[in-house]
Amino acid sequence: MRKHLQSTRLWAIGAASILALPLLGTAPAYANANFPSPEGETNTASILTYEDTIKKLLSLEKTSRHQVDVFTLEEAGIYVNKSEQGRDLYVATVGQGAEDVWVQGRIHGNEPYGAESILSLIKDLGTNGSAEYQNIRDAFTIHFIPMYNPDGSEMNIRQTVLWDQAAGEPLLAADGTEQRVDLNRDWVSDKFQAQESLAFYEYWTAVKPSYGIDIHHQGLKKEYATGDDVTLSLGISLAPGGPTLPSIKDGAYDVLTRQMHGYVYEKLSGYGYINMDRYQVGNGLEIDIKGGVVSAMMLGLNYKDMNPTGHSNPVVFFETSGNTSDGSLGQKARGKSIQQNSLAMKTLLLGLATKEVQDVDPDVWKDIPHTPVTGYSTDYAGTIPVGP
Ligand SMILES: [Zn+2]
Repeated sequence: MRKHLQSTRLWAIGAASILALPLLGTAPAYANANFPSPEGETNTASILTYEDTIKKLLSLEKTSRHQVDVFTLEEAGIYVNKSEQGRDLYVATVGQGAEDVWVQGRIHGNEPYGAESILSLIKDLGTNGSAEYQNIRDAFTIHFIPMYNPDGSEMNIRQTVLWDQAAGEPLLAADGTEQRVDLNRDWVSDKFQAQESLAFYEYWTAVKPSYGIDIHHQGLKKEYATGDDVTLSLGISLAPGGPTLPSIKDGAYDVLTRQMHGYVYEKLSGYGYINMDRYQVGNGLEIDIKGGVVSAMMLGLNYKDMNPTGHSNPVVFFETSGNTSDGSLGQKARGKSIQQNSLAMKTLLLGLATKEVQDVDPDVWKDIPHTPVTGYSTDYAGTIPVGP
């Protein structure tokens, strides 16, 4: 598999042409951290489609100075390699570093800016000649998955729909209803209901990344103590200090996820248009689910003996406020939402490349604004309250 991945990379060499592109400037100063809006029109017509995404990827592969390789999971030799509705699943790699990093967006189809911010970061990594981007490209080979859930994206729904490909229609349950699967609850030994899950799981076992980043949207949110609008929540689906994470790898990921969050929090706090807090699921509850894709990565899930060495890796996620389902995306927020995500990803990648992340005091995580913790919302034991 590894061999095949490398030959796929080699296969794409030569496509890149040299273009003199201007370097990107520093971040512009936006006044207020309040860009998603309940009044915002959510114009889904302007959101990238699957076809748009492929077109942009192929264009980036062609025009980037620094090699960007775009390929499908079928081309990478993955056995189950299409979405439920038969769409190809795309990956783009950038960088030549020895360590691999996994960056996924739009696992929830109605959370569009994962794809757009990933495309924006691929463009920067492919064109920017500055030392920062060179550091990232030298340290890592980054596997970008801009659209994990193409079917849900095309339907503007969170899930994917189980599909009868021969009949070209939804595969109905016994009671005659359509079966929707949340792909971010499907990496569980007795699940893997959707093809997308099997496809990306096998790819993950081939890549064996050292780190991961996962991009989502959440609803509109106010900071607990101040009532200010939150634009970006920093989270992970197995809560630091929670019932699960401290026991993995002798607590290494419990420390490292706090450092990853803390680093991004410290570095991005100076940007006026970004207001961060910690991701929580409401009423002071932290999330602690084992079936989330990135949870399963941290737990080293070995499904059908495809991960016999028990590979695992730490991951964090970024949650942008505003979503299409609530009509709160806010058209004006588009540029800032995409920019904050690609900046957060770039910042974290650079901090991991330079190992500055590993020097962060993990206690910074406690200073990131959050509602006092009352318990943990789990997918294995209901709600676990915090002891007195
Ligand atoms: Zn999501």
